[in-house]
Amino acid sequence: MQARSFSNAPFAHAVLTWFEQFGRKHLPWQQNKTLYGVWLSEVMLQQTQVNTVIPYFERFIKTFPTATALANAELDEVLHLWTGLGYYARARNLHKAAQQIRDEFDGQFPTDFAQVVALSGIGRSTAGAILSSVLGQPYPILDGNVKRVLSRYFCVEGWAGEKKVENQLWALSAEVTPQDRTADFNQAMMDIGALVCTRTKPKCTLCPLNQHCGAYLTDSCSKYPAKKPKKALPERKSYFLILSHQGKVALEQRPNSGLWGGLYCFPQFDSKTELFAYLQKQGVQQYQEWTAFRHTFSHFHLDIYPIYAELNGKKYDEDRTVWKKVEEITAEYKSSVQSAVKYWYDPRNPDQIGLATPVKNLLLEFQKGKNHG
Ligand code: SF4
Repeated sequence: MQARSFSNAPFAHAVLTWFEQFGRKHLPWQQNKTLYGVWLSEVMLQQTQVNTVIPYFERFIKTFPTATALANAELDEVLHLWTGLGYYARARNLHKAAQQIRDEFDGQFPTDFAQVVALSGIGRSTAGAILSSVLGQPYPILDGNVKRVLSRYFCVEGWAGEKKVENQLWALSAEVTPQDRTADFNQAMMDIGALVCTRTKPKCTLCPLNQHCGAYLTDSCSKYPAKKPKKALPERKSYFLILSHQGKVALEQRPNSGLWGGLYCFPQFDSKTELFAYLQKQGVQQYQEWTAFRHTFSHFHLDIYPIYAELNGKKYDEDRTVWKKVEEITAEYKSSVQSAVKYWYDPRNPDQIGLATPVKNLLLEFQKGKNHG
């Protein structure tokens, strides 16, 4: 880090002056601000860009206008509205936190930092962002955008995923954050990160911080923030069985925790042999192999091999699964979250359930009747 004697006043002044002219002030969650609305937006904005979030936010707030409405909804409905946003643990945590708010705070979003940060899925930065944004409480924040600005400005060495580096960034964020106008300052820092101090090709000449920015002055913007040390992601395979019967498709609900937790997927097999043995037992003679594709998670690549087969009106052998009617899902789901619920999904009349993105895409292919073989 560069040697410096630092006063936060000029830093905050430059950021706030920039905000008045260029900051974002018309986002949906910035209008008639509520703790609940800002919380929703903050959770959605983790890992996701503003433009993607806006329609999701609008649908969400319309469907669940209060924390209690969200708490009282079925998790399936919440996941359904979340479909496509990714990182589904966020949706499960939102639902859980809404129930905490309903049960422990009488449906009113808490205003005390310790109580907010204790809610499911809310970390220090999100709690600070909510309380500063709505109530003007002077908490610093440290989301991905702010990390990038501070790493560059102060030439912070090391990857922000390391605790030591993260602590250093928190200390810097606390140092630069003013006690007054914290809401505008935090919003401005997020905006500068998103609009000016971008990941690649930062627009330094337009930046209010360029006079004292260490990375800009030493022409080393690309060096900061340090990248995560590279590790090759492991590869895994999965065979998805798209088993159709009278226009419907077999889906199973995944266990509530772990990958695609609580979402619905096709029956999955580790090998083709296992899948074919299963089809044979059902008396299915024919199948189609659809084009394989890769879905990458943060910690591994999943190579997906879709195999389509038709169950030709024969009596179904309930060997592997207990097939249930849609109405039975909720009861089963609540009583035993670890056991998958399985049923025939009708894409022409789709239920409000959460679908993993590759499953959603394959269902669209199925509906188009597209043969890939
Ligand atoms: S001067 Fe450039 S590198 Fe420094 S904070 Fe501004 S945009 Fe980022």
